[in-house]
Amino acid sequence: MCRTTRVPRVLCVLLALLAAACGKEGSPPRKGPAPERLPHYRVARDFRLPGSPAWVRAKRRGHFVVGAKEDQPYLGEKDPATGAYSGFDIEIAKMMSASLGLAPRTIRFRTIASANRETALRNGQIDYYVGTYTVNAHRKKLVGFAGPYYMAGQSLLVRTDENDIHGPRDLAGRRVCSAAGSTSYRRIEAGHPKAVLVAYDTYSICVDNLLTYQVDAVTTDDAILIGYAAKAPDELKVVGRPFSREPYGIGVPRTDNALRLALDDALRARERNGDWKAAYEATLGLSGVPAPEPPAVDRYPAR
Ligand code: GLU
Repeated sequence: MCRTTRVPRVLCVLLALLAAACGKEGSPPRKGPAPERLPHYRVARDFRLPGSPAWVRAKRRGHFVVGAKEDQPYLGEKDPATGAYSGFDIEIAKMMSASLGLAPRTIRFRTIASANRETALRNGQIDYYVGTYTVNAHRKKLVGFAGPYYMAGQSLLVRTDENDIHGPRDLAGRRVCSAAGSTSYRRIEAGHPKAVLVAYDTYSICVDNLLTYQVDAVTTDDAILIGYAAKAPDELKVVGRPFSREPYGIGVPRTDNALRLALDDALRARERNGDWKAAYEATLGLSGVPAPEPPAVDRYPAR
């Protein structure tokens, strides 16, 4: 059935993606990077950060609680069978834990959607957040950001049978899906009012809607969209050029300057010693884009 007509094939892809997401029978594509390829991060011994409430809490419990995404291929993905998270953001979270003296395998990851990140950091649900989280002035009023550790750019994902969408100007009168609370959603809302915007909690729901012709495009960062396109290359393509700059930061509670500055130092050290590049190559690099230079860490003073 999967190879005869176009509509059943689209449904087949959707079913395959769903089966992979649910860990059902058959042999779904491997979730995320090969574990044996992932770098090991040296755990700092005798590290102490008594000025950081989040670090003190984590040390007492014996692990960090880290917010992440669970449905973004190569970045933050949860294996439904094992519950394990993998991807570039997950590696960043692990190397940070190691630098702060707690073994990466002890981390408890919690999936937090784009719209809920600031609340989760402000009410202490998580110690830090690593999940395609753009640093910007508005968010900096609510939370702190270490980094940035990666530079993405907003882009568009369409079906391979779509020939009229090449950039955000082509979205007038078309249905475009993005995640609530994201910079991607806001940029289309503010700059392209003729686009018909649809919001869901996650980009993977947007992609399901794209595959079933409920929407005409999905918009968010290129790093995220490339992952979805790589999973269904016959059905989906990323089009045009990135039309924004999205520096990814590590979110921390706003007043925890000690944690933020320690994470800045840790990022710089992991970029210098090759861990950042090794992590990229074992995860996001699998999508075919060679390792870029990481953006300069913006170590802003305590506030
Ligand atoms: N980087 C953008 C943001 O932080 C889009 C991706 C996301 O929603 O995580 O809003």
